[in-house]
Amino acid sequence: MNSHALDKLPLILLIDDDIVMRLHLRLCLEKEGYEIVEAKTGYEGIEAYSRLHPDIVLLDAVMPGIDGFECCAQLQSLIGSHRIPILMITGLEDQASVDRAFAVGAADYVTKPVHFAVLRQRVRRLIQQSQLQKQLEAANQELQRLVSLDGLTQLANRRRFDEYFDQEWRRMQREQRELGLVLCDIDFFKSYNDTYGHQAGDRCLQQVAKVLKSSARRAGDLVARYGGEEFALLLPNTGLAGAVSVAELACNAVRSLAIPHRSDKRVVTLSAGAFSVVPSSDQDKNVFVAIADSALYQAKAEGRDRCCFPTKHTTMKHL
Ligand code: GH3
Ligand code: MG
Ligand code: MG
Repeated sequence: MNSHALDKLPLILLIDDDIVMRLHLRLCLEKEGYEIVEAKTGYEGIEAYSRLHPDIVLLDAVMPGIDGFECCAQLQSLIGSHRIPILMITGLEDQASVDRAFAVGAADYVTKPVHFAVLRQRVRRLIQQSQLQKQLEAANQELQRLVSLDGLTQLANRRRFDEYFDQEWRRMQREQRELGLVLCDIDFFKSYNDTYGHQAGDRCLQQVAKVLKSSARRAGDLVARYGGEEFALLLPNTGLAGAVSVAELACNAVRSLAIPHRSDKRVVTLSAGAFSVVPSSDQDKNVFVAIADSALYQAKAEGRDRCCFPTKHTTMKHL
């Protein structure tokens, strides 16, 4: 095995009722630098598999109790999405047996008498393939995380917000529950940058992002960087009173950071607009955002460092 990819020896689980066969396979494969664990029945094999998570399974097809095919099928159901290769080793060469082995999920098939020079290459290739597969899945997951994240603040980015908003809008509509939204914007941030420099501005954004994150911490809540110094808090299952209290919490938390600012408030402050609605099919979710945005605009107009929300007569139709 390539030593570069591995810190420890790859583990082979060998399931075969024949002690002589197990011994031969063990001797051959230990020479290749693998660690071997043996099981002499299908049941033992399944138990060892769940406990040890081997890198590959070598499986005899014909065994008393559950045979290799049944065992293979059961292992597959344990494996789920992280497939560990199963190599079937058998005296059965007929087409039906070969077909059945692949149908129950074997990755490869070798017949007895085992040609060890071939077997070691097959084992090496299967382990390499599954390791590459795992690396690819991990890289994909990381990529997925990165495309949803704002690099500066580590909050969800606008792309993720739009995606989640769409999903939750439809879900709340189905479940006839309220969806809350808070839009907020740092006050006099242009002048903060002008006074303290862009790097200090970036650090300020990071600090604000952190406290916003702790203002909305229910499992379904999403805190996103909506634009430059604007943030959006999407709050599924939250009515207007709840959205307003999250918004006030956010404004208070930003003020409490006490980041000095040469403005009339002397510290960096936040303005917020809150709104909530039970979505329905005749409503436009852009109108919903626009209402929260006009509440934010009102908070700015009334002197900033506060949260505003529409009067109870404001409905989605009023815009
Ligand atoms: P208001 O109180 O009305 O919100 O005024 P404001 O100055 O905060 O608003 P304005 O929209 O005029 O300015 C926003 C500023 O935010 C301007 C822009 O340079 C700054 N900004 C946006 N994104 C970033 C960023 O990533 N880093 C830094 N340092 N500044 C940013
Ligand atoms: Mg601003
Ligand atoms: Mg702004």
